[in-house]
Amino acid sequence: MSEGAPLKQLPQRLDPRKFAHLNAKLAGIVPEDCLSRLHDLSDGRDVQAIHAELEFLVDEQGRRRLFGQISTKVNLVCQRCLHVLPVPVDVAVKLAIVRDEEQAEDLPRDIEPWIVAQEQGDLYLALEEEVLLALPAAAKHDYPCIEADSLKAGPEVSEEALAAEKENPFSVLADLKKNLKTTD
Ligand SMILES: [Zn+2]
Repeated sequence: MSEGAPLKQLPQRLDPRKFAHLNAKLAGIVPEDCLSRLHDLSDGRDVQAIHAELEFLVDEQGRRRLFGQISTKVNLVCQRCLHVLPVPVDVAVKLAIVRDEEQAEDLPRDIEPWIVAQEQGDLYLALEEEVLLALPAAAKHDYPCIEADSLKAGPEVSEEALAAEKENPFSVLADLKKNLKTTD
């Protein structure tokens, strides 16, 4: 591919078992407007396309597999300062294509199932799910984004913190307590 060429859109619906038998390799993107769950999560913040390099194959145990690497960036909200926190996601995909929950439970723990009951599966949903699974439960900036002083005083900040605490009972309050202890 020549540099600067627009990235190809991955097919949304495909027969992953057939792809596995063909040892198909795909590279491309899941466009941002096809990522409804990431849009819901982002609540109006910018959503970026998922970039993927994928390989379908049949493994030594005869399982139909999807391997690959996917990357994107998700705009979460910092649970400490409540500002936007862009979280880069770059994860390995190691899925096994199964028919139902029962088959999924038979998989070894390190293999995640992609349940495709019919012939065709939705690749976009599967990759979006992998991104969602890779996100941290309570994202925070990796620097002290709220100054210790403003945590101790100031009604605006504590109101904000209280509001955040409702959504996330553990992280914000725990941080407040920790900060108060260490700075006193
Ligand atoms: Zn922050």
